Amino acid sequence: MASALPFVRPDIQRLAAYVPGEQPHDRRYIKLNTNENPYPPSPRVLDALRSAINADLRLYPDPMAGALRRKAAAVYGLAEEQILAGNGSDDLLTILVRTCVGPGDRVVYPRPTYSLYETLVAIQGGTAVEVPFPNDFALPVDGLGERGQKVTIVCNPNAPSGTFTPLAVIDDLARRLRGLLVVDEAYVDFASETALALVHRHRNVLVLRTFSKSFALCGLRVGLAFGAPDVIAALAKVKDSYNVNRLGIVAAEAALDDYGWMQESVAKVTGTRSVLIEGLRKLGFQCLPSQANFVLARQPGTDLKLLHARLKDEGILVRHFDTPELRDALRITVGTPEEVAVLLGCNAMRA
Ligand SMILES: *Cc1c(COP(=O)(O)O)cnc(C)c1O
Repeated sequence: MASALPFVRPDIQRLAAYVPGEQPHDRRYIKLNTNENPYPPSPRVLDALRSAINADLRLYPDPMAGALRRKAAAVYGLAEEQILAGNGSDDLLTILVRTCVGPGDRVVYPRPTYSLYETLVAIQGGTAVEVPFPNDFALPVDGLGERGQKVTIVCNPNAPSGTFTPLAVIDDLARRLRGLLVVDEAYVDFASETALALVHRHRNVLVLRTFSKSFALCGLRVGLAFGAPDVIAALAKVKDSYNVNRLGIVAAEAALDDYGWMQESVAKVTGTRSVLIEGLRKLGFQCLPSQANFVLARQPGTDLKLLHARLKDEGILVRHFDTPELRDALRITVGTPEEVAVLLGCNAMRA
């Protein structure tokens, strides 16, 4: 077929775009569809931003976000050289895939997981090897083991299941792999353990974090990668020169200065998570245990697309994935107790 855009690579023309969750502006929704934090960021972040606006926005930011990296190094117990800042962890994923994956290179990850991985690998012309999770979402370690891949990605806690793989299992996987093991810890502050310690033990482990979820800073786009200094140096060659903006850097530093605020926010969310899971089970949904700020609620064999639409009509947004393995599930972000009460009591959920 003749292309209408002969200057666009044929594989990009064929590429199915990554579809982010809706950010509607037509009306006010109870927004439980994109795993944002229902609570605001620390007031110290807002103060720091106000001061920064009066500072020199005319000037470029620090290309390596040195002050943020030094602060993160102190907070997380690593060296500055082991840390890279990104414009959200999506930016770090893009940098990582561009750095490691060329045409035909294999990237292995379990599925279903964060679907951006597939898109990024495809853009590079790489080969995604997707290993199915079993029904209980236990990590398929043998399937992820040595398959000649450059990169293995494990999202932990996993999205959209919310399930968590214990550190010992990740450690074992890192030992088995010769390539890079990326642990996407976007939701780890809502979980019991982190793989950060593995960065000291294995040269081939890269841990990704974001300020979006637990620190409630989705709108500012800041993430951090933790890994071996030579890996970080390679990633730094590929990133945009000024990939994190001045306000993002300032906000992330202030957020780390008020770590306790994040922990309080996480405690509120995890408390409400239990209420949400219990309520959903009473309504007849199957819910996996979640260590994230969302829950996957399933009605085996029932397509929940219609329920998603009914909830939207009632002003409640949740996420439905129209794929064979997720069609019978909704991913529901943990909101405030009030929001969760409205969801559990609404007509669509009781029908
Ligand atoms: C939200 C999310 C990200 C991206 O976070 P940003 O820092 O906002 O880009 C990365 N990975 C997973 C699994 C996520 O859910």
